[in-house]
Amino acid sequence: MRNKIKKVGIIGAGFTGKQIAAQAALHDFIVIVYDINPNIVEDAKKYITGRLKRKNQLDTIKKVSYYSDLRDALEDVDLVIEAVPEDLGLKKEVFSQIDNFAPVHTIIGTNSSSYPVSKIESAVKRKDKVLNLHFYPPIPTRPMVDIMRGTGTSDETFETGKNWIKNIGCEPIVVKKECLGFVFNRIWHSARKEALNMWDKGYADIETIDTAWKIFTGMKMGPFVLMDGIGLDTVYAVQMSYFEESGDPRDKPPDALKQMVENGDLGMKTGKGFYTWKKKKKS
Ligand code: NAD
Repeated sequence: MRNKIKKVGIIGAGFTGKQIAAQAALHDFIVIVYDINPNIVEDAKKYITGRLKRKNQLDTIKKVSYYSDLRDALEDVDLVIEAVPEDLGLKKEVFSQIDNFAPVHTIIGTNSSSYPVSKIESAVKRKDKVLNLHFYPPIPTRPMVDIMRGTGTSDETFETGKNWIKNIGCEPIVVKKECLGFVFNRIWHSARKEALNMWDKGYADIETIDTAWKIFTGMKMGPFVLMDGIGLDTVYAVQMSYFEESGDPRDKPPDALKQMVENGDLGMKTGKGFYTWKKKKKS
């Protein structure tokens, strides 16, 4: 049985949000897209339309709407996924806005890489209808989504979320007990932390670490290319949240990474990170 979700709202249409929107549209959901920045909305429209065209889903293009007013956007959505930057205060603010504008039955999910929804849920009244729904972009090649409860999430919300993940062609990765980093991200965090530490301490070059990783795992990209793809601002924020939770100095991201973020060297999206990028290719 298809679950009750028909219309999905994506709030924050940047790197991850636009991919979630495209994935939902490709699986026949009605999708609404909202971002505070109109240029990002335009960019998301190009990306989503391009993906639907490549799959020959021309009729589906009409099922995706783009909004500049949040209240209008959320009028009759069944599920909203927040994909705004990794900032707890901002996420709470956006959750509160969604809670005010969306219908009472609407489930609210966060795509946060590091914050459990239990840290955001105080911003809403509907604590039984919140979830972590954490994607692993690029979604077409990594079709899995961590799903985790808040303190009051109902079984019905959880099951609806799980079914929706299956209905968009992804594998639900169930987190049984709240933990920072969910399932795979937690494992990936440990590898990333060590890679950053080795680079910072000068034990090995980034190219060497990436090469070793690729040969051992059979993956096409090493940790430094992956981090450039994620965005070093996001990587830094996520590493900091692990550090804040543990208080362990070994979890603190290197100052050199902070400096790169402050310099605006954020990876592929700015053309420079650990590597130099031109149109998403290493130069
Ligand atoms: P991004 O910077 O590419 O996109 C965030 C978007 O949110 C921007 O377009 C911005 O304009 C918009 N925004 C900011 N404030 C807003 C507001 N008040 N209302 C509506 N839109 C607003 O970031 P991203 O990499 O897509 O990350 C977004 C979230 O997804 C973060 O929580 C991050 O941890 C998580 N995430 C990222 C990745 C990744 O690989 N980058 C993977 C999984 C999860």
